[in-house]
Amino acid sequence: MAASMYQRDPRAGLFLGGSRVSGAEVRDQNVQAAQTVSNILKSSLGPVGLDKMLVDNVGDVTITNDGATILSLIEVSHPAARILVSLATQQDKEVGDGTTSVVLLASELLRRANELVRNKIHPTTVIAGYRLACKEACRFMADQLSTKVDKLGRDALVNVAKTSMSSKILAADDDFFAPLAVDAMLAVKTVNPRGEKKYPVKAVNVLKAHGKSARESFMVKGYALNCTVASQAMKTRIPNAKIACLDMNLAKQRMHLGVHITIDDPEQLEAIRARESEITLERVRKILATGANVILTTKGIDDLVLKEFVEAGAMAVRRCRKEDLRRIARATGATLVSSLANLDGEETFEASSLGFAEEVVQERISDDELILVRGTKVVSSSSIILRGANDYMLDEMERALHDALSIIKRTLESGSVVPGGGAVETALSIYLENYATTLGSREQLAIAEFASALLVIPKTLALNAAKDSTDLVAKLRAYHNAAQSVSPEDPKRGLIFYGLDLLNGEVIDNRAAGVLEPTMSKIKSLKAALEAATSLLRIDDSITVTPDQK
Ligand code: ADP
Repeated sequence: MAASMYQRDPRAGLFLGGSRVSGAEVRDQNVQAAQTVSNILKSSLGPVGLDKMLVDNVGDVTITNDGATILSLIEVSHPAARILVSLATQQDKEVGDGTTSVVLLASELLRRANELVRNKIHPTTVIAGYRLACKEACRFMADQLSTKVDKLGRDALVNVAKTSMSSKILAADDDFFAPLAVDAMLAVKTVNPRGEKKYPVKAVNVLKAHGKSARESFMVKGYALNCTVASQAMKTRIPNAKIACLDMNLAKQRMHLGVHITIDDPEQLEAIRARESEITLERVRKILATGANVILTTKGIDDLVLKEFVEAGAMAVRRCRKEDLRRIARATGATLVSSLANLDGEETFEASSLGFAEEVVQERISDDELILVRGTKVVSSSSIILRGANDYMLDEMERALHDALSIIKRTLESGSVVPGGGAVETALSIYLENYATTLGSREQLAIAEFASALLVIPKTLALNAAKDSTDLVAKLRAYHNAAQSVSPEDPKRGLIFYGLDLLNGEVIDNRAAGVLEPTMSKIKSLKAALEAATSLLRIDDSITVTPDQK
């Protein structure tokens, strides 16, 4: 039905003051919107994908090829396109990588589903077929395509990190950064009360420093703060640290703006001044009385109170980033205190607000003075200090590193990997094609389309690498078909791990070549793409509701 203005729906007696689009037209519009989004991302998929330069309205520039970052920066107004944007954001949050792939796959699934609907297959049947295909694909992937990390050892982790970095700015130095990221993640291992091993990405602190080359980046165990002690006279090493994390000013207390006091005796003025200084000193003494020997604050510390810290043999650091203190508080078991006042208005500082670490030291590491919090008691932490020429590079390096850290976390937590470079998608495509022919129901068509949709990944990868994608994908399919037509014990079965070698334009064993991705992230992206595509497919009416204008 053509878009039309509805004044009043006579049957329901409802006022629908907006426009309404339904049936095939709304589906076409949604497909078009999804295609537009995926076309933007297409050229940046894979290790040889290209970058996008995004300029915002104040002229800030971001250069990236990370799908989620691109989509979060561009302005998208079509509701269907926005669903894909949130799909990428969600994937970034949950998995950390695979954001471009998930959007490409979702839009391809949607496009193909729409074709089926045009050929008179009911959307519900298509959705049922897609769901079945996704379920079978995940099962096949877990059973036949994944390899346990224990079998492959630490190399698998390094390779997973390299694969994730290969499409990003760190690609040229992946042999340097991949082991660095693996060490950083291994250093933050914690075991939760249920006995499960956890690797929180947030426990890895990434600091960015201008200057020097990327290869002069380094990793340290412990939480690194880009600050120095507040006074030269302070100790720079505190073993058995009891840490107070403060979000308050330890400066002379000043009366609030607008407070008006009339004094007729100059001595009283002096008394007020003395009291102003005393209040802060009292606070500091209360904090030190609990045994705190490291005081970190996000705000300032007056010279007036520095003496107090020096005499108590404590270390004080001012102007820490709030985010850093939040994380240190989490890692050491401290509470970030923003006021000493309790509910009764009295000022106290509880010893229970302190956090613990084996030591806090100020160290000079390759020209940088850093404060390191080592051996944090609740969650271990590690820090990576990134060096780079300018802000754009450092930001993109940080994003790439974050993706790699998330992928290492997924691999460590799920314990299995699959070959990348289109190997999984092609294997699943062949498997589903064969599976579809075993079914005698209508879903067969949808499953076959799901199988073809998966090929968008190897096709785009080859295309971006300036290779003949038709040729390469046909060859890859032939390999996988051969692998799946023999029994699992047959040596030919090894062909199932074959994927694209994008530099040489060949088909190679990507498991042996170390192009690996965590199984869990592939499964998650398949499921997420399916959900996004089906939720758009289910829409057959789009009504813009505008307020009643009488
Ligand atoms: P995403 O945002 O989806 O992670 P990327 O641009 O990182 O997109 O590309 C990921 C794709 O590139 C995956 O399909 C992965 O298998 C593939 N890939 C990564 N490294 C290689 C490589 N060295 N050879 C072939 N394919 C690779």
